[in-house]
Amino acid sequence: MIIGKRRRRGRWLALSILLWGTIAAAAPQPAIPHPPVPPPAPPNSEPLRTLHRPGQCIALTFDDGPHPLYTPQLLYILRRHRVRATFFLTGVQCEKYPGIVRQLASEGHELGNHGYLHAQLSRMSAGEIARDIRQADEVIVRIAGVWPRYFRPAGGVLTPAVLDAARQTGHPIAMWSIDPRDWIVGRDATSITAVVKDTVAPGRIVLFHDGGANQPRMLEALDTLLDFLEHQGYRFVTLSEA
Ligand SMILES: [Zn+2]
Repeated sequence: MIIGKRRRRGRWLALSILLWGTIAAAAPQPAIPHPPVPPPAPPNSEPLRTLHRPGQCIALTFDDGPHPLYTPQLLYILRRHRVRATFFLTGVQCEKYPGIVRQLASEGHELGNHGYLHAQLSRMSAGEIARDIRQADEVIVRIAGVWPRYFRPAGGVLTPAVLDAARQTGHPIAMWSIDPRDWIVGRDATSITAVVKDTVAPGRIVLFHDGGANQPRMLEALDTLLDFLEHQGYRFVTLSEA
């Protein structure tokens, strides 16, 4: 009697599992939160050097990161000033420090593509450059779930092959209009600050580096600069916002 009941219960259990398995298999899979769908290739547009947006806006951009020590320090400064910026990341650094990449995205900063290897682009064909860009796209999408809209070539190299590769991979190119040369080792914070203060105007895009070898001076300069720019009435936007 007891054995018969147990068998029946066992059969019901097996049937329920089978049924639920079938329902679960038929149910739609949960959607990926940020579909990594690349936009269509942009038309033959000029590289972006100033913002196409009215008002007293500027964009801060940071290249070559993420860096394990300096990018978190930079994020602290940006948070304190409630400033959002655009980060041109390299694929290799993203693979080393995925947590920082996710933090950048979650704190509202824009992620841009700075190539996978930060390679010597002037010696490469369009096909080779496109492969490097796609590799960085894949890494950023896999880690942060967002498509990096803009591409900034390593070293600011703009050969016909670079332009072609950006078109092939669906990226508009973003350059800059203020370069305080913060990456030069030994350059002090006062010199970095002076270049930005002397040349700032609405619509300018400023080039900084959170990867490299002179970041402590850049961070020192940035803290002072943000106070100055806020006092002047500037608003900070990401490149896509502009
Ligand atoms: Zn770079």
